[in-house]
Amino acid sequence: MTDVVRSLSHGAEGIGLYRTEVPFMIKDRFPSEQEQREYYREQLEAFAPNPVTMRTLDIGGDKSLTYFPIQEENPFLGWRGIRVTLDHPEIFLVQVRAMLKASEGLNNLQIMLPMISNISEVEESLHLIYRVYHEVREEGYDIHMPKVGVMVEIPAAVYQIRELADRVDFLSVGSNDLTQYLLAVDRNNPRVAQLYHSYHPAVLQALVRIAQDAHVVGKPVGICGELAGDPGGALLLMAMGYDSLSMNAASLPKVKSVIRSVSREWAMQLLEDVLLLDSPHVIKSCVDLALRNAGFGRYLRPGKSNTVAFAEKALS
Ligand code: PEP
Ligand code: MG
Repeated sequence: MTDVVRSLSHGAEGIGLYRTEVPFMIKDRFPSEQEQREYYREQLEAFAPNPVTMRTLDIGGDKSLTYFPIQEENPFLGWRGIRVTLDHPEIFLVQVRAMLKASEGLNNLQIMLPMISNISEVEESLHLIYRVYHEVREEGYDIHMPKVGVMVEIPAAVYQIRELADRVDFLSVGSNDLTQYLLAVDRNNPRVAQLYHSYHPAVLQALVRIAQDAHVVGKPVGICGELAGDPGGALLLMAMGYDSLSMNAASLPKVKSVIRSVSREWAMQLLEDVLLLDSPHVIKSCVDLALRNAGFGRYLRPGKSNTVAFAEKALS
């Protein structure tokens, strides 16, 4: 709720990613349908009539539940997110029931599916969501069918954007995992942290392609990973045509002030320039230089200023 208050006071227009793992992680057992319903209702009410995007349980990988241990040698490539909940539909069904009941009278719920790597996962999930929707309506709840979207965070999804977008209402890029999986760099391993770079040309090319392909089939595409909360990243995403940016409440004021101060054409020129470069570090330096020249040097992290000379050289 602290985040909700901060987001509202910073002018958020909804919630782009509500990580439902959190209420599960603070318990020592699976929260009941009624408990989940109360958590979800609180969020939905706070933002109504603006949309609240609730992600179905994304456990596994770096998010574990003490009461549901998963032992694997390679958890990031293992039983994670939608894979777990489709193998345990009882968890998924209870969660969706709680979400739908919580949305009664508000109709601002959006459901988002994590870790989608193939179409059948989307179809199976949609089937379960429709089933719950009809059951809950039959029980007398006056609810509307929520918009359903998928997260694009696995490279396979990048190459099936049109097929995915045809089946759902929206797409949202999880840039944290997409970077990790595209670059084969564990996002939590300090030993390879210098290789984890969302400004890597391959990541930027993937982001461009996702936005273009989603728009070809007329579906909105947003981003809910950390990249959108970085002023330079937000500029590039705006230039790529992303329809919505989701970020931590603390990043909202600076990102708003940056994207409102430059034209889309200016950002598109910057994007065009950086897409010609082949090093993530040089790209970062160029974006930093552009921000500095536009008067936003205060948003750059201290200690990075030596990279500006580097960028000037790359652009010359
Ligand atoms: C992401 O992967 O970018 C994302 C938003 O999800 P999470 O960080 O919770 O994995
Ligand atoms: Mg993720």
